[in-house]
Amino acid sequence: MTARVRLHLDQPLAPGQPLTLDRDQANYLFAVMRLGPGDSVLVFNGRDGEWRAEVTEAGKRGGALRATEPTRPPRLPPDLWLLFAPIKKARTDFIVEKATELGAARILPVQTDFTNAERIRQDRLQAHAVEATEQCGGTVVPEVADLQALARLLAAWPADRHLLWCDESRAGPAAPLASLPRGPWAVLIGPEGGFSPAEQARLRAMPQVHPVSLGPRILRADTAAVAALTLWQAALGDWA
Ligand code: SAH
Repeated sequence: MTARVRLHLDQPLAPGQPLTLDRDQANYLFAVMRLGPGDSVLVFNGRDGEWRAEVTEAGKRGGALRATEPTRPPRLPPDLWLLFAPIKKARTDFIVEKATELGAARILPVQTDFTNAERIRQDRLQAHAVEATEQCGGTVVPEVADLQALARLLAAWPADRHLLWCDESRAGPAAPLASLPRGPWAVLIGPEGGFSPAEQARLRAMPQVHPVSLGPRILRADTAAVAALTLWQAALGDWA
């Protein structure tokens, strides 16, 4: 049986390579998906593309696979980061999941002057990114960074990375993004309270920053993240 079950494994992939499954992975494959010895699954490790692997051992607490052949070469997402101010847990989870599906390469939660969240569970958010990559057919998992201060990140901002600042004060007609330069980019979404006057002044002074409107309505941060990534991908990314 060829199941379209996809699994991220942080192990080298090569023909005949044995792979070990931890308890969660074994539970998913054998209890949830009801696979057994001889069944095949798709695996990826973020480096070697996607491979077919065969179940060789199915246990309750673990198991083993053997990689057979490559099925897809690695496909890097475009060089796009998402910076967002974490909001309520379920909405933050949503942002990480959708950013992964929409092809962000790095996800950076940022603490802004009006951010509500003091801390995040980086490991949990990274696990969401792994799951979303498994589900959407990606071969590279975006890295979720730990929470960091926006001011510090901007102070060391790379000279060559453009920053799409989703600026709610510009809410109104949205100009198409296709005329913007290509190259490394990041999208910046603010918290429920928006950006502080100091942050706005800082952003306005940076040559890498391109302020944009996301249309006439004020969107919640999770909606704004999806809208901005979609616009960017369609104009400058791998949908273009
Ligand atoms: N409290 C703010 C809204 C914050 S919405 C206010 O009422 O003005 C959360 C974030 O989503 C914003 O910081 C911005 O980054 C983005 N956003 C929402 N709607 C937008 C729009 N129409 N144009 C540009 N950015 C928007």
